[in-house]
Amino acid sequence: MTDSNCVFCKIIAGQIPSRKVFEDEHVFAFHDIAPWAPVHFLVVPKLHIPSMAQITAADAPWLGHLLTLLPQLAIDNGCRPYPEGGYRIATNTGKEGGQEVQHLHWHVMGGPRPWVRG
Ligand code: AMP
Ligand code: ZN
Repeated sequence: MTDSNCVFCKIIAGQIPSRKVFEDEHVFAFHDIAPWAPVHFLVVPKLHIPSMAQITAADAPWLGHLLTLLPQLAIDNGCRPYPEGGYRIATNTGKEGGQEVQHLHWHVMGGPRPWVRG
């Protein structure tokens, strides 16, 4: 299930270039084009799901898989270890949640402060 008008579906398909961080059967991760922090990448499901608002219990297996990847991806991409280091994981949802791209994604941000934002 993809959306031919969706920028993240196009990135997953290789139709728009990205700096890939990770890929497996269910998950794709790539650096954010406008980073807020020294480390800032996005992690997305390969399925086109607009936001957390569409998630149901049927999504639990791949959702659990995706979330358990995040700590190792953060460390592998330059975040420093907890608790002195750490990272921020954020999923904006809907207009009032600050979501701009309507394909579910997790921001993973870290590295020494100050950051540009966040
Ligand atoms: P959000 O506001 O949570 O929907 O975040 C969308 C994020 O996608 C922003 O941080 C953008 O910088 C990022 N973004 C948009 N287009 C691209 C792209 N082509 N490659 C990488 N990141 C992108
Ligand atoms: Zn999409």
